[in-house]
Amino acid sequence: MRLIHWFRRDLRLRDNTALAHALARADVVPVFVLDPAILSRPDTGVPRVAFLCAALAGLDAALHEQGSALVIVHGTPEAALPRLCAATGADGVVFNRDDEPFARTRDRSVAVALAAGGYTGEGFFDQGMLDHDDVQTNEGKPYTVYTPYRKKAEQMLYANPPAIRDSVHRLDGLVHAADLPASEPVPTCESLGFPAPSAQWRVGDETTGRDILRAFASDAIARYATERNTPAADSTSHLSPHLRHGTISARQCLHAALRAHTQPDMRSGAELWISELIWRDFYRQVLYHLPYVEERPAKPAFASLQWENDDALRSAWEGGHTGFPIVDAAMRQMNTLAWMHNRCRMIVANFLCKDLLVDYRHGERYFMLRLMDGDLAANNAGWQWCASTGTDPQPYFRIFNPQSQGEKADPTGAYVRTWVPELATVPDKYIHAPHTMPPLLAQEAGFRIGTDYPLPVVDHATRRDRALAMYRAAAGKTAS
Ligand code: FAD
Repeated sequence: MRLIHWFRRDLRLRDNTALAHALARADVVPVFVLDPAILSRPDTGVPRVAFLCAALAGLDAALHEQGSALVIVHGTPEAALPRLCAATGADGVVFNRDDEPFARTRDRSVAVALAAGGYTGEGFFDQGMLDHDDVQTNEGKPYTVYTPYRKKAEQMLYANPPAIRDSVHRLDGLVHAADLPASEPVPTCESLGFPAPSAQWRVGDETTGRDILRAFASDAIARYATERNTPAADSTSHLSPHLRHGTISARQCLHAALRAHTQPDMRSGAELWISELIWRDFYRQVLYHLPYVEERPAKPAFASLQWENDDALRSAWEGGHTGFPIVDAAMRQMNTLAWMHNRCRMIVANFLCKDLLVDYRHGERYFMLRLMDGDLAANNAGWQWCASTGTDPQPYFRIFNPQSQGEKADPTGAYVRTWVPELATVPDKYIHAPHTMPPLLAQEAGFRIGTDYPLPVVDHATRRDRALAMYRAAAGKTAS
């Protein structure tokens, strides 16, 4: 028997569910389809394309080490896969399921196209630790609130962690390179019509992903509980682009964390890190069960929010020139590294929605364009949480104060000074509100208030009141 393994968001050979199933019963043709429907989406950003290209190059090299190769084709999967089945003599296609609305629709039409040609199509669950119906309320319904979901998920994952799939010991079942149809070259951003990637983006492949996980789970995870909310400490894993593209699996992360959990000095860090991986599964199941959240607020009342959507304010936010140092530092970090610290994502998202009164969907889209880890489920839910429109949102009247958020997250100003170098000489006391610096002190520091760095683009107290009024109006409330 021969099967095609259609790689999508599972760009690895180890712990790959569909690949393991295919190799257990067939010889396997490894295929990746460069789909114009994805590449031409308005929210397909260069950083994600760059990560994809690096991951494909690594996958192809790993397959060559096994005597095989990645067959890369351009086209719609509905047309390309039946054609490849015919060309390789394959009986059908296996793939790991993707629960995004676009992918679900695509996979249904691929199944129809394969069946029309007499080929099989089989999808497997692989994208998380727990599938979308694994954790349910006692009434058999999906959870829309994280904490009870987490409690149940933890009971399951600690007692009975999902096993690592054995795809790696059967790789001799891969079809030899000489017997594979011609492939297009491994793509680059430029060959796909995108601008060249920045050298500062930490793109990678399966090997990089495993190295990062190994390093994190043997060291920084010990500090995760105490440092994860301090962006300057930079002690989170940075695995999000790898989890996004499947160059590492959530199961591999879980098992590494469970090993760390056996060591007393790593226990609390490992526990918290697993709870973050559970957020990822929680949001995936929210998107699966409530696919409309891709388009509109999970809370219907907030569909009528009257956002101001001021273009000048929005572009100040995008470029990191708002005059709020923690916001600007974070936006510049993302614009430079194609990654942003979680605490900062929360701060800038709150700021866009509740200080600038810009629709969260603008921010959501900007993140998709700028992040290597841009992921519909996590990004949409992260934005809806901050905008107070999500299934399990922060209450709308909880409005972050960007100055005190900065003081809390970055008490020494180290993060701000890294990303906003024009504030380098501003003393710690004023680093999160440089416009309040006494003129004489500013002069001594060689810092020109409002010239070297912008004055705040809005007055937080005034905007806070406007935001409350906007939310109250949408919620149909008169009192706060
Ligand atoms: P770690 O702290 O090391 O966490 C490990 C992994 O757990 C992450 O790689 C990620 O896969 C998962 N995770 C952690 N926190 C969350 C969370 N809150 N929600 C879902 N998964 C989580 N994450 C994305 O992967 N893609 C996005 O597009 C994305 N957009 C976001 C937008 C907003 C407004 C907010 C508030 C959060 C967003 N997140 C997103 C979640 C989180 O910020 C990132 O996953 C995290 O910062 C990635 O860094 P890390 O890998 O070092 O995380």
